[in-house]
Order: sequence, then structure tokens, then C-alpha cells
Amino acid sequence: MSDEGFSRAVGKTPVKLDSPGDNQLIDVVVPLPIYRALTYVLSVDTLFPSKGSRVLVPVGRRNMVGVAWGTPAKKPPSVDLKRVKRILDQRPLLPESLISFLEWTSSYYFYPIGQVMAEALPPGLLSARNRRISQISNGLPRSRDCRPEFLPWSTEVPLHLTREQEEVVNAICDALTTSSYHPILMHGVTGSGKTEVYLRAAEACVRQTRGVLVLVPEIAMTTQAVGWFVGRFGEEVTVLHSGLTEAQRRNQWFRIREGKSRIVVGTRSAIFAPLSDIGLIVVDEEHDPSYKQSEKFRYQARDMALLRGRMSDATVILGSATPSVSSFRNTLTGKYQLITMGKRVAGRSLPEVVVVDRRKKEEKDQDHKLESARPGWLSKELKEATRDTLERGEQVLLFLNRRGFATYVFCPDCGHVFRCPHCEVTLTWHRGDRRIKSEKDGVLRCHYCGLESAALPVCPQCMGQAVKAFGYGTERIAADLEEIFPGARIARLDRDTVRVRKHMEEIILDFRKRRLDILVGTQMVTKGHDFPGLTLVGILCADLSLNFPEYHATERTFQLLAQVAGRAGRGERPGRVIIQTWLPDHYVLDCANTHDFKAFYEKESEFRKALGYPPFGRLINLRFSGRKKARVCDTTGNVARLARKLAKGIKSTGGFQVEVLGPAPAPRAKIKDRYRWQILLKSTSLSDLRAVCSGLLSRKADMIPSSVRMEVDVDPYSLL
Ligand code: ADP
Ligand code: ZN
Repeated sequence: MSDEGFSRAVGKTPVKLDSPGDNQLIDVVVPLPIYRALTYVLSVDTLFPSKGSRVLVPVGRRNMVGVAWGTPAKKPPSVDLKRVKRILDQRPLLPESLISFLEWTSSYYFYPIGQVMAEALPPGLLSARNRRISQISNGLPRSRDCRPEFLPWSTEVPLHLTREQEEVVNAICDALTTSSYHPILMHGVTGSGKTEVYLRAAEACVRQTRGVLVLVPEIAMTTQAVGWFVGRFGEEVTVLHSGLTEAQRRNQWFRIREGKSRIVVGTRSAIFAPLSDIGLIVVDEEHDPSYKQSEKFRYQARDMALLRGRMSDATVILGSATPSVSSFRNTLTGKYQLITMGKRVAGRSLPEVVVVDRRKKEEKDQDHKLESARPGWLSKELKEATRDTLERGEQVLLFLNRRGFATYVFCPDCGHVFRCPHCEVTLTWHRGDRRIKSEKDGVLRCHYCGLESAALPVCPQCMGQAVKAFGYGTERIAADLEEIFPGARIARLDRDTVRVRKHMEEIILDFRKRRLDILVGTQMVTKGHDFPGLTLVGILCADLSLNFPEYHATERTFQLLAQVAGRAGRGERPGRVIIQTWLPDHYVLDCANTHDFKAFYEKESEFRKALGYPPFGRLINLRFSGRKKARVCDTTGNVARLARKLAKGIKSTGGFQVEVLGPAPAPRAKIKDRYRWQILLKSTSLSDLRAVCSGLLSRKADMIPSSVRMEVDVDPYSLL
């Protein structure tokens, strides 16, 4: 449709801009990295578009789709104002409550509002290409049926709730009837039947004709969650996550916007679902780090769920068997209500946990003498337990948080290690095809930039012929298992095997339906899956996450251990867990052993408090990157100097201390040819911390050259 054609369609006639009195001013937010709205001109006889309606506006030399944002607060100098080209929506695309929520997140994360908008909307709605605009401007895209398909899961309804479930459901229903903000942390051990509680709570909320938003940490988990919710509520449910096609995402989004669905299940980004009246928000596995987006708009969907819940007078349930240290602390300070479910359903017991000390020397000696068939990663205990479990016709889950066949490749003659030329990391060897046996085959892949090169038979440095691979990943485990347990049906679940989402759903469903005997996987298998036939869980190397250079390494390890252990024994038969480790005396193993979250919390919070780490202190990480090392380093130095000055000013006027740590190169000092530096701001006062950050951002234009990129990470998770 041509411009004029569209103008007619929305009843707008072009008006000349001779006398300013004939015009009205309007603010428009466009998806660009700028922190404010742009002001445009609109003729007086045009119906002023409500806040949240899309408009087409010229920006520089091109046209962009922006969102109307009301009358400007201040009258701008009227010289060069451009005219709005078209009004695209007759009613606001975004509900009012969502607009305020987006404004708030934008300011909290210091992220430009237009770009927040671009993340919040399904793809294509802010595209200025004509074809797209005409397709979607009047609501639902009707071209073809693009509703996503849902795999069948379960329509079972338990006959009776357990006593604990009943008490919890009652407490939640009480909260719902108040129709006011009510945050709850539901600490329910694995297998205590949390999903059933969510379903009952959703039912109660829908009965009040209010909306329900259910967040799960990963796409892998939506299969199960959606399965349960569709089984119970059918058509009422919509799904939002990045595994859908663009058309499917738009379709689901408009169904919600038009009030055709009141229950939304999705991953992190579903926090921006266009529900207009939310009564209940569930954040399942609230401790999961996937709720934090790790690039660009670095929001934490769990934290935002509490904000959105507060803005909509909703009950917010954070559910987990291993609550995050910060959420648990909020129950102690009275911010959240704590609800506990300490028992598994149907009188099932938590699995028995055995720690295998890998340091034992005699075991290593026996290794070669007695069983040459046993690879180094497999203890005698785990091998025997696996064999027994398979013989009983039950299932085994093995967890190792590392992909690939070998973690690094090197030349023993000259010591050359194969590294990525663009990132400062070693390359991982992916053997791929199982039939390839030699270390001279497969590919070397960089896990940061994706660079792939053929695995070389010779060392490029000394031409040595004895290139060796070290360290094992899931690929190697799966290959070894096929030799040790011939005939067992083995599958692998990691980012390499599930490049296609469908494969992931199939693997998970196959394991649940017992069409597989052994599943080997990375942290994907630790998520809240319910596998009734699984009775043995093996954790191949607990030390991997424990030795991670982050302040929350122990917390993450506790979560991984307890969660993956929690997959065992969820059916009729009791479960067993074997943890292999070189650090058997670490307190986290004792706590995981006895399923003692509180003991873990006590120890961990002592350490956090002493060092002022979250939740006892707040952090903002400023990241700088660029292709020229000296530029990045100098810029970071200048910003740090100014940060110290600002912090000093705040302190001297009665504020709290804001520590400025750095400038320092990031632990991952170079990724994709970009050098990375950072400054960590730390304080017990969020407002003083934010004041320093705002001060820096207001000087951004003078301080940061165009060759250096600066990113703000509020409440950072990874500091690598
Ligand atoms: P988790 O607390 O780990 O999320 P789930 O919600 O996955 O636990 O529940 C574990 C299993 O218990 C599921 O298979 C579920 O169908 C079953 N279950 C839940 N509630 C009951 C109940 N009241 N009676 C019998 N089985 C139940
Ligand atoms: Zn790389």
C-alpha cells in the first residue's frame, strides 16, 4: 500500500506546516540507542494517537516505526521538527500497564526505552518495511494459521492433593482474593508437586477473570509446563518463547493482546506479555540463571516479575527446591512470605546420595589392573550402579557440565595449545560422528565465537605428529558408554544435540516415555524435568562448577547438585545419586548430601556478607570493549577516574560508600576480536550506586570514543 493510500485508510489528510498553530507536538519512541523520545509534529485535525500506538516517522534519511509516547513534557526548540508520516494503529498496540512497566525497566537497567520496546514486542512489529506494516497494522495477522503445535504431555489430575499441597493452595488462594501485591517464595523439595500447585493457583486466578503469567527458565522446560497447562486449560493457554517462528510469536502475542488467552506460559521474555490485568505470576525454578539475559538488555526476569506483580496488584509465586540466596534472604527480612513443602508426593523419599572420593589412589591403580574397559571419568561405584540399574530395566541420568569430546588439544612435542585466534580461549574438539576414532578427525570449535577448523593431524608450530586431546565432555561420555554398555539406548542432551528445538523435545519425551536407557547431558538435564522411570543419577564431576571463578560458584553448585539429584526417584521406585568429586570435604557436598538447604544458606550468606556481595551489597558492572586494546584500556581508565570522583562526592555529602573496583581486564579478556575491560561498582546503597552510574552515563558522549562500546550491567550475574 502506498503512503497516500494508507493515510486515507486511517482518515488522515496531509496538512501544510505554515503556521505553527495548526500543529500539535508528539513524542515518539524509536528503537535506537538513545535515552529519550524524539519530538514530531502532527496537524491539529489529526486525532492524537494514544500512548502505545505505532506511528511511522522519519529518522535521519529513513523511515522508522516508533511508538507514540504522548505530548512532550517540555516544548523543544521548534526549528527542525519533522512531521509524523502515518499513524499505524487506531488503538494502542501496548496496554497501558505494560507501557509503565517498560518505562520502569528501561530506567532500572539504564537501557534505552526504544530498545526495551524492541525486545518486548514480537519480531516484525517495529519493522518499517511496507509489506509488514500493512499485514499487521490492523491486529491479528490472518495470512495463515500459525498457531504453534503442542506435544501431548499429560491430562492427569491427581485425585487428592497432598496435605502440604492443600495448605499451600489455600494460602495462595487467600493471597489471590486480596487482589493486592503479595510475593511468596515457595520452597518445595524436588518432587513435592509444585506444578500441581501452580495449576490450582492458575485455576483460581482465571476464575477471578484475571490473567496468569507462568515463567519457566528454558525452552526445554516449556514443553513440560505447556503440556501440563494445555492439558488442564486447553485453548486458554498461549506460549511465548524464542523457539517459535516469527509468525507464531506474533500470533500468540495478538491472542493475548486481544484477550483471547488469559494464561501465558513462556521463558524470560514472556515477562513482557501484553496481558492487561495480571492476577498471578509464577516464576518456576526461580533460582535459575537463565532468567538473567546475558547480553544487550541485561534484565532479570525473576526480579522484573516482582515489579510487574507489584504494578498489577498480583500474587507472585517464586518456586524452587533450591531458592536463590537473595530470594531466601527476602523471606527472612519479611519482604516475601515463605511457604515450604518438605515432602515428596505419595510418600516418596528423597534420593540417597553417595559421594565418591576420586582422590583415592588405590582406585586409580585398580583402574588399569582390573578393568581396562573403565575410562578415567567413571568410578567403580558409578559403573556398577549403572549396570545394576540397567539390569533392573530402570533409567540412568549422567550429568557433566561440559560439551564436546575433549576440552583442549595440544602438541606434546612443543607444548603448542590450539586456541581460537579471535578469543583468548582453547578450542574444544568435537568429534561429531561416532565412527571417527582418531584425534585427527572432527572439528575444533570455539565455544565463544563458533569458529570451526578441521582438527589437524600435525602441530602447526613444530610439525609434530603426536597431537593429543585432553579433558572430556558429554560427547566423549556418550561414546564411551556405548562401548561399556552395548545394547543400552543412549542419548545426549546438550547444546550440540539440540540445535533444532524439535530434537530437544523428542529426547526429553523419549526419556520420559522410557524409550531411552541412559541420558547424558549438560545443565539442560538439571532443569525441573519429571522422569518417573529414572532411579540413578550420576554427577560426573562436581568440581567443575565449584572451581568456577565467580562469587556465586558454590551457590550454583548446590543448585546443580540438588536439582539433578532431584530428578531421581520421582516414580514408584526410590532413587540414588552418586556424586564424583575431588573435593569431598567441601561443605556444599555435605549440604547436598543431606538435602539441607538451610545449612547451605547459613554458610553461604556468611561469606557473602563478609565480602559485601549480593544480596548484602549491590553491584553494577560497566563493560567496555573494542578492537584496539589501548583505546579500550584508556577509556576504561578515564571512566574509572570519574567514577571515583563521583563516589567521593556522594560520600562527602552524607551518602554511602560506593566502591569502584577496576579498571581491570575482564577474566575473558578477548572475545570475537574485541578486548574487554570492566569496572565494578559496589555498594550497600542502591540509590547511591545508581547515582554514580547516572553521573557516568550523562558524560558518556564526551568520554567514550565511537570505537569503544560501553554496556551497563545492573545486578550482573556473570563477571567473566
Ligand atoms: P516438583 O515439585 O519437583 O516440580 P512435580 O510438580 O513435577 O514436582 O511433581 C512430581 C510428580 O508428582 C508429577 O509426576 C506429578 O504428576 C505428581 N503429583 C503431583 N501432585 C500429586 C498428588 N497430589 N498425588 C499424586 N501425584 C502427584
Ligand atoms: Zn573464538
